[in-house]
Amino acid sequence: MPKTQELVWTDWRSQLKHRIDTLEALREWITVTPEEEQAIADAVGKYRWSITPYYASLMDKEDPNCPIRLQAVPHPNEFRSYPGADPDPVGDTIYRKTNRVVHKYPDRIILLVTEACAIYCRHCTRKFHTTDLEGTYFESSEAASWEQDFAYIASHPEIRDVLLTGGDPLTYSDEKLELIVSRLRKIPHVEIIRIGSRYPVLLPQRITPALCSMLEQYHPIWLNTHFNHVKEITPEAAAACDRLLRHGIPVQNQTVLLKGVNDSLQAMQALLKELLKIRVRPYYLYHCDNVTGVSHFMTSIEKGREIMRGLLGHMTGFAVPQYIVTTKLGKIPLWEEQLHQDEQGIWLENYKGEAMRIDDW
Ligand SMILES: *Cc1c(COP(=O)(O)O)cnc(C)c1O
Ligand code: SF4
Repeated sequence: MPKTQELVWTDWRSQLKHRIDTLEALREWITVTPEEEQAIADAVGKYRWSITPYYASLMDKEDPNCPIRLQAVPHPNEFRSYPGADPDPVGDTIYRKTNRVVHKYPDRIILLVTEACAIYCRHCTRKFHTTDLEGTYFESSEAASWEQDFAYIASHPEIRDVLLTGGDPLTYSDEKLELIVSRLRKIPHVEIIRIGSRYPVLLPQRITPALCSMLEQYHPIWLNTHFNHVKEITPEAAAACDRLLRHGIPVQNQTVLLKGVNDSLQAMQALLKELLKIRVRPYYLYHCDNVTGVSHFMTSIEKGREIMRGLLGHMTGFAVPQYIVTTKLGKIPLWEEQLHQDEQGIWLENYKGEAMRIDDW
């Protein structure tokens, strides 16, 4: 049994304080393989890693291919080089307008709050600034004044949707978050505020009644989270989502298609079904980007389309996420083409592959 005497399981700060970030501590939870041990050694000076006791408790002690372990424990493949890998394939650095604002789409922005996370997911799209130890992208300026960021938003009336992200914005205290959210609420053209947080999955204890009551004062607030595997849907995670929902905060899910974690129809269906049971709506299924240090998680687009073909029409309409690849040109849908045009007109195809022609005036 892991040494957790002083750990107060239900207290998020205590979970953070007792994060596992040494080989010795990890050994209290799992039988570390020689490969994992090597990767932990190689990560020194290169990539951060840490795991909350809560998430560690979901890891299979003996199975190195456990989907929870693959997302949290360093792996030697992170240090291999892969063709075409890029630290920032989605181009956040290109669209960054101020220290915290990334303005890529006409009506919405992301606002970088912190680069800290409770767990440094091995597959993070922003691995270069969350997991990367150099901290050159954002960490060094995380403490800078917010005035320029707020001024940018205030002077761009087309911005009606602000998405707090990072890192995980819920790493900040309720007080610090309230300063940010209340300030955004004072900008009349900011219609909706979104929070991107993986804490319902990694640290559900963070979703306290106090946090939810604070956020509720600044509606409309939406929250997008990031469940990748059905094993992550625990009673604690379900309760965290339930608290958000009861305070009027819709919870949606963004999954990343990850090799070995969820790249089978069966794994994806199990996840999506369970999400509906906890009233979390599937939003995006992201194709894994060729991010430096993450490439080993990539599947083929054909694999993703095959999974989508197994979902569309076979499951509740809103159980089916949109399959998207994020590029420097933005998010681009990758799902099946259901419409074809020829001399006879427009043909539609259903989920069974049956085609019919429709009249198009
Ligand atoms: C993903 C993303 C958004 C939000 O896009 P939605 O499709 O509305 O969820 C906004 N800005 C940036 C830079 C993004 O990467
Ligand atoms: S919680 Fe999100 S931002 Fe943080 S490491 Fe994981 S995927 Fe990246």
